[in-house]
Amino acid sequence: MKIRNLLLSMMLATGLTAAHADSKTAQLKTAAATQSAGTRVVMLGTGHPGFDSKRAGQAILIVVDKQLYLFDSGPGYMKNFNSLSNLPWMPKDTLFSNDSLYGAINKLFLTHLDSDHTLGMDEFLLRPWVQGRSTQPVVYGPKGTKSLVDESLKSFKSDIDHRTLGSQPSNNTGYKAIVHEIDHEGVVYKDDKVTVSAFKVPHGSWPDGMAYGYRIQTPDKVIVLSGDTRYEERNFQFYKDADILVHEVLSDAGNQKLSPDWQKYMLEAHTTTKQLAKIANVIKPKKLVLNHAIFFGQPEQALVKEVTDDYKGTVILAEDNMIIE
Ligand SMILES: [Zn+2]
Repeated sequence: MKIRNLLLSMMLATGLTAAHADSKTAQLKTAAATQSAGTRVVMLGTGHPGFDSKRAGQAILIVVDKQLYLFDSGPGYMKNFNSLSNLPWMPKDTLFSNDSLYGAINKLFLTHLDSDHTLGMDEFLLRPWVQGRSTQPVVYGPKGTKSLVDESLKSFKSDIDHRTLGSQPSNNTGYKAIVHEIDHEGVVYKDDKVTVSAFKVPHGSWPDGMAYGYRIQTPDKVIVLSGDTRYEERNFQFYKDADILVHEVLSDAGNQKLSPDWQKYMLEAHTTTKQLAKIANVIKPKKLVLNHAIFFGQPEQALVKEVTDDYKGTVILAEDNMIIE
């Protein structure tokens, strides 16, 4: 009954107008704001490579005891990050201070280097710094991440010089990212709150070891982020026991409208709704979050139904600013 209600509310929500969606987001935030400490997954950007006025590029923020862990840095999500600024479980919103949410957004993990996951690199490096971050950010990602960061900073040299050499109060550290390129599966990051493990995923023609998913262990949850991946049973071992499985998805019906060469490509790169239902029936995550949804003209509720026709667990279609606990 509970699941039925949730599915019903989700189906209704996916058909709502933008104004109603905003009000739903506000309700989610209010609910999340009043609950006790614990891991939260904030869907800052839930889009795909195409244009979508409702969705920023890929960015998922995990918050544990006011520590922030950001996964991917697609285009446009920083606006959504700002909307978290007054929530009690976030660090303080104190301008021009490293002791703030701007200082706290300092750990980034990239799944791969496709631009829908990296076009926001400049913003990650520069905007929190301008607002007071002095801690050097750390960036984890596949081979090529260092070049991406270095070239990004190079292209903004004029801005950086203007701020550091002129009259603007500034520091000379908060944009200088320390990069760790990932070349193996297993634990890539660990602190007293979380352990982050990377696993290789097959995504289009990216070579082996150039696209990753992440499994994050927090004090109260296991969260798995699929990254961009085609259906691959090898991934199942990394999805096991997930409380929250955030998985990319491609509408099966939408894909069938494409030309044969595009259909072939999409199946090499992405996981269809039918395939994801199959995965969920094996893994049985407590919550399955449909992320990076590629609709190809399918209505949102139709894409969700493609999954829920075959999988009866809890399914949530990700929207920007959605908070999942
Ligand atoms: Zn992508």
